[in-house]
Amino acid sequence: MAGQPPSASTSVLIAGAGPTGLTAALELSRLGVAVRIVDRAERPSPESRALAVQARTLELLRVRGVGDRMLPLGNRAGSATLYAAGRRLASIELHRMPSEFNFILMLAQSETERLLTEQLARQGVKVERGVTVTTVRESAEGVDVTMRSSGADETVRASYVIAADGPHSTIRRALGLGFAGRTLPHNYVLADLHIDGDLPSDEVSIFLAANGFFAVFPMGGGRFRLMATDPGGVATDAGEVGLAHIQVLFDRVVHVPARLHSMNWSSRFRINSRHMKTLRKGRVFFGGDAAHVHSPAGGQGMNLGVQDMINLSWKLAMVLDGRAKTAVLDTYSPERLPVIRKVIGFTEIGTRVFNSTNRAVHEARIRMAPRALGRSRVQEAAAAMFGQLSADYRGGPFGAGDRVPDADGLYDELDLGALTLFTDDATARDATRRWDGAVTVRPGRDDGWLLVRPDGYLAARGDTGDIAALTDFLREWFVAPGDVGMADHTDAHKVT
Ligand SMILES: Cc1cc2nc3c(=O)[nH]c(=O)nc-3n(C[C@H](O)[C@H](O)[C@H](O)COP(=O)(O)OP(=O)(O)OC[C@H]3O[C@@H](n4cnc5c(N)ncnc54)[C@H](O)[C@@H]3O)c2cc1C
Repeated sequence: MAGQPPSASTSVLIAGAGPTGLTAALELSRLGVAVRIVDRAERPSPESRALAVQARTLELLRVRGVGDRMLPLGNRAGSATLYAAGRRLASIELHRMPSEFNFILMLAQSETERLLTEQLARQGVKVERGVTVTTVRESAEGVDVTMRSSGADETVRASYVIAADGPHSTIRRALGLGFAGRTLPHNYVLADLHIDGDLPSDEVSIFLAANGFFAVFPMGGGRFRLMATDPGGVATDAGEVGLAHIQVLFDRVVHVPARLHSMNWSSRFRINSRHMKTLRKGRVFFGGDAAHVHSPAGGQGMNLGVQDMINLSWKLAMVLDGRAKTAVLDTYSPERLPVIRKVIGFTEIGTRVFNSTNRAVHEARIRMAPRALGRSRVQEAAAAMFGQLSADYRGGPFGAGDRVPDADGLYDELDLGALTLFTDDATARDATRRWDGAVTVRPGRDDGWLLVRPDGYLAARGDTGDIAALTDFLREWFVAPGDVGMADHTDAHKVT
């Protein structure tokens, strides 16, 4: 019942315990924010779904206690090779990525979710299952969220809400927000199964034919994820696909003789390519599939959702405890949307090129792939794009925005809950004392100073003695506890 008065309060209410919601809960609870995370499903999904964990996600999750646990459970692919007409055309050399994690980690989404949930439990937060968010209503004091569990309604007042409730987001719909984009016309199948045949276990294989494509992702132990176009397939609802049908598609496109068997999951689907125009409505923030969906082919989706929340969480935590001005929250949507649009753009181009059943386009693919991928620059750009290492926040409202590489253990020195100032310049160090709590100082790595955000992106940098740039930046976005009138800029309405 929307009008029911709130019976409890929390700082942040997270709707949805998929990878996006779990990451938000993990970050916020680690930073001392009171969170509740609810999911309408009684138990976690056992389906493998998103398989690809990309380099940038691993860099960020390593220092958050999860990345190192993922590594031994997943299978590494160091390249993606294209084949057509029975021969190898070219490879995208993912091992060229400028990261310690220069590969795609193939790990079932169910496992990624399990590891995130376990880390969350170690931080003292339990996912509340069988709880469905039904309505949200914003007021001056916060957001009243009504949830249904075992037939009973409960209304909770939250300072902020994170809508991580997936592609059919109840919250997005309740607030009447659009999800513009399109449904692409082709039909696809996905399956997890065993392959007896000569297919590499350390690279992604993509077979192109005039009548469609077949991509094979190695999961380790002889198991593979398959994704293929299904030109004659049923155009309607998702549903299981038979093994025999997948073997027919495989034999039609793949030149390697192989027997497919022991399938434990399959699905048919169409690609939706959509995103919200803004990721925020007042005190409600949207992330993950609730805010953007696109082709699963490049293995980007889950990674975008995780990184949405790593961008947002430190900002929310610092605003909630009064260290940052509320304007910091305005940077979430304009920083993430360009990154999301780029990923949607490149998956759409990939989909168009791989899907074409036009013979002339197919001949052109065969001719051009080796030429394009023979260039070092193209290789490096493609590898960095897949790994989400080229995503940055340059041009955003916060300024700077370059990804700071995790070189020589830099991320181990990052304060994951405040800005980190790397400097040996005593004047820079002294100048930040007023923002005590918002800035942690570490020894310098170069001349001058480097101010790095908790999510591993550059906040600002300057030369030795160039203190004005540092203090101007801090004054604009962060609260110096001694400043008069700071309440004007901080979150005066927070619920604790
Ligand atoms: C069949 C399939 C195959 C896929 N394959 C790939 C792939 O190969 N590669 C890839 O990158 N991506 C793939 N994806 C997409 C990937 O799974 C998503 O990008 C990822 O799950 C997004 O995570 P999320 O946390 O944002 O949303 P979700 O994982 O959808 O989680 C949303 C959660 O919110 C809960 N929820 C929904 N409504 C409510 C409510 N009203 N109240 C409370 N809880 C609610 C749901 O129960 C769910 O647990 C696939 C998806 C599907 C369905």
